[in-house]
Amino acid sequence: MAWPKGVPFSDAHRAKLSASKKGNIVTAEHREKLRIANTGNKHSAEVLDRMKGRPWQQESLSKLSAGMTGEKNHRWRGGRKHKRDHMLIKSPGHPNADANGYVCEYRLVAEKTLGRYLTREEVVHHINGDETDLTPENLLVMENQQAHARLHSQLQQVSYDLVKLGIIVFDEENGYQVAAVIAARIARRF
Ligand SMILES: [Zn+2]
Repeated sequence: MAWPKGVPFSDAHRAKLSASKKGNIVTAEHREKLRIANTGNKHSAEVLDRMKGRPWQQESLSKLSAGMTGEKNHRWRGGRKHKRDHMLIKSPGHPNADANGYVCEYRLVAEKTLGRYLTREEVVHHINGDETDLTPENLLVMENQQAHARLHSQLQQVSYDLVKLGIIVFDEENGYQVAAVIAARIARRF
């Protein structure tokens, strides 16, 4: 939300702002707020309220059906749109497209590699955790969500092993991070 021009920040708001800039730990709650702010509804509660009570006019309904969708829509984005860290691709006729006809790009890449459609149960795991990395080596097709969850538990256990080995360190200011000495060694290849 843009701050209205000419309205000074209150002391409380200013304190919140500076507090939010201190420290690197982003809580899960804050991250969820950010996610909603970045992806969610752009309308204010007031505008939404006004829209709610308003009936569709016959004219706008026929405009919609007369080609305000798909490529004729001025908001057409080439059939690509963001969802968190990955892209959704408009895929007409795809057996597992969502209600709007979109499929996750990384699922399409995995399907191309396998030479078949994924089942609805199959889940694609990103081996390095980077959802934007679509190289086939980074995509692992898991049989179902249960198998996928097992892999994530394993990764978590390995992380704790690294904490015990001192490769990952924890402090209250920064949370978990790779120990500086290890990071430096990796940077200069030991
Ligand atoms: Zn995963």
